[in-house]
Amino acid sequence: APSGRKPLMAGNWKMNNNHLEAIALVQKMAFALKDADYAAVDVAVIPPFTALRSVQTLIEADKYGLQYGAQDVSQHASGAYTGEISAAMLAKLGCTYAVVGHSERRQYHAEDDAVVNAKAKAALAADLTPILCVGEGLEVRKAGGHVPHVLAQVDGGLEKISAEQVRRTVIAYEPVWAIGTGEVATPEDAQEVCSAIRTRLAELYDGGTADETRILYGGSVKGGNVAGIMAKADVDGALVGGASLDPGEFVKICRYRD
Ligand code: PEP
Repeated sequence: APSGRKPLMAGNWKMNNNHLEAIALVQKMAFALKDADYAAVDVAVIPPFTALRSVQTLIEADKYGLQYGAQDVSQHASGAYTGEISAAMLAKLGCTYAVVGHSERRQYHAEDDAVVNAKAKAALAADLTPILCVGEGLEVRKAGGHVPHVLAQVDGGLEKISAEQVRRTVIAYEPVWAIGTGEVATPEDAQEVCSAIRTRLAELYDGGTADETRILYGGSVKGGNVAGIMAKADVDGALVGGASLDPGEFVKICRYRD
């Protein structure tokens, strides 16, 4: 439950939904969501790159309050980087967010903290809000090393990012063992790490910056468990994978107060 920070519910679709399926899903969500929902929470969809243009067209035409963003962004501004998408291209498409350092990118594409940091900086330079993902694997959690592990990722991911920029950044704590496994962290687990991240922001920057920066939890969030997680002081929203593909479930998550 944020103090002055507007909660964010972001649905990471991963590699699901072509551009036509994306239109159908956004229409269902947008039909259910009302002005009161958008006033209470920022709601974003994070579709595959190929669906961003149709999502933009739909949202602009119908004046839906939904935001959207991309699942990844190039660290480079332009040029000979075959297959990459620049932050400027995403900004031009009306994206608000770019996810950087998702655990699936770290795991399958060998992205380290330096690459994640470069991507966050590229996003910020184009006025996108990076959603910087951090989180420990099961072995680290079992050994009790999760807090230092996550704080090292925060330090690396925020290298040479200013206080003004970090206030425009969203940090998502996603324990890898809880992603797509149905194994949700307890609200206390989420709070422990989100609060440690906020304390770290106060050390790296200042208390005001730490207070303003949004920190999300991600990992098997559903309509049935979101309220307990959102009740925690340092959890400002959720990054939602599987449940964001079901419009009814995602709308329930957005209405966690009800
Ligand atoms: C994610 O991948 O960001 C995620 C949180 O996935 P899920 O909700 O499916 O665990």
